[in-house]
Amino acid sequence: MINWQLDYDLTRYNSFGFTSHAERFISVTEIDELELALSDVEANNWPLLILGGGSNLVLKERIPGAVIHIANTGIAVLADDGEQAIVESAAGENWHQFIGHLLEKGLHGLENLALIPGSVGAAPVQNIGAYGVEVSDCLHSVTAYDRQNKELVQLQNASCEFSYRNSIFKSRFPGRYIIWSVRFNLSSIFTPQLDYSGLGNFLAGKGIEQPSAIEVYTAICEIRSSKLPVPSEIGNAGSFFENPIVDESEYRRLKEQFPELVAFPESMGRYKLAAGWLIDKAGWKGAKQNAVGVYDKQALVLVNHGDGNASQLLELADAIKQSVCERYQVSLRIEPRIYPI
Ligand SMILES: Cc1cc2nc3c(=O)[nH]c(=O)nc-3n(C[C@H](O)[C@H](O)[C@H](O)COP(=O)(O)OP(=O)(O)OC[C@H]3O[C@@H](n4cnc5c(N)ncnc54)[C@H](O)[C@@H]3O)c2cc1C
Repeated sequence: MINWQLDYDLTRYNSFGFTSHAERFISVTEIDELELALSDVEANNWPLLILGGGSNLVLKERIPGAVIHIANTGIAVLADDGEQAIVESAAGENWHQFIGHLLEKGLHGLENLALIPGSVGAAPVQNIGAYGVEVSDCLHSVTAYDRQNKELVQLQNASCEFSYRNSIFKSRFPGRYIIWSVRFNLSSIFTPQLDYSGLGNFLAGKGIEQPSAIEVYTAICEIRSSKLPVPSEIGNAGSFFENPIVDESEYRRLKEQFPELVAFPESMGRYKLAAGWLIDKAGWKGAKQNAVGVYDKQALVLVNHGDGNASQLLELADAIKQSVCERYQVSLRIEPRIYPI
């Protein structure tokens, strides 16, 4: 028997801080609790939202059906030969604290992803990435509850079909798998990933050419804190739009028209355009509309100035998308999940 909490206030479970109420809510820490909750959901045919930290979601005012918050905890080193280790974390662990824990244990690979809000379980969903590293670079496998076959399954890295901000959990089988724990391949030998020029230059500016893991971690935290709003102070979900990926001819056309265009080469002759640059140069940085707006230090981040709501935010996002499309003939895609659609 599941004790659903009714008309549950989700304001503290979404980093935009929008007022939102779930018809019913439960926080689960054990797999049998999850199974019981799911059988209720299926018996009643309720729509279901799986919730981590709510930092990649735009929640509307009423959330119908059920919300299951994944709150299991525990971190274990499963194998360690002195150089390589496999570490497993429960899905409900906090991502940033998990990275801090690994740093204390001297296990490396994920430092560049420090300070990304949210849970470990959500990290594979959109293959979180920052400063030249994606979670898929170190991910060994995912243990997930498969709602279709009603069993726990282990999906190896290759089966997760990771790509830029994407995976099977988001695209091919949305809603089918509930991630229960994640295993990572980590190393006790630290190899700094400084490909992202902003990070290398930041460290060089401090006179650090061969940084230690803690120096990279600290630099990432400093850079992020200077650029991104803290959700508890200004509601936001980080980057609101994905960086569009275009083919070479499209890139050349834009570069000719906008010589200062910021873009990065991708594989197979494609280019990733900096969506923040496109939005900024279209004149949106710092714009306000109703109680929402575009962050004044980073045009890729949309913010809630206080008592905004999802409709206002989506109206603003539409206006930005239209203006970017008119100016550059480039389509922007929203990164966070809008729920319900
Ligand atoms: C200030 C700020 C900075 C950010 N910076 C970055 C960044 O640099 N790079 C980046 O990639 N992202 C970034 N994000 C986005 C966000 O932090 C990540 O996407 C994060 O992984 C979301 O975790 P969460 O637990 O909050 O997920 P939620 O927002 O709760 O959920 C996100 C999606 O995952 C699903 N989900 C959650 N948990 C599970 C689970 N256990 N099993 C299956 N599905 C699940 C949800 O249903 C939803 O579809 C940022 C967000 C903020 C607010």
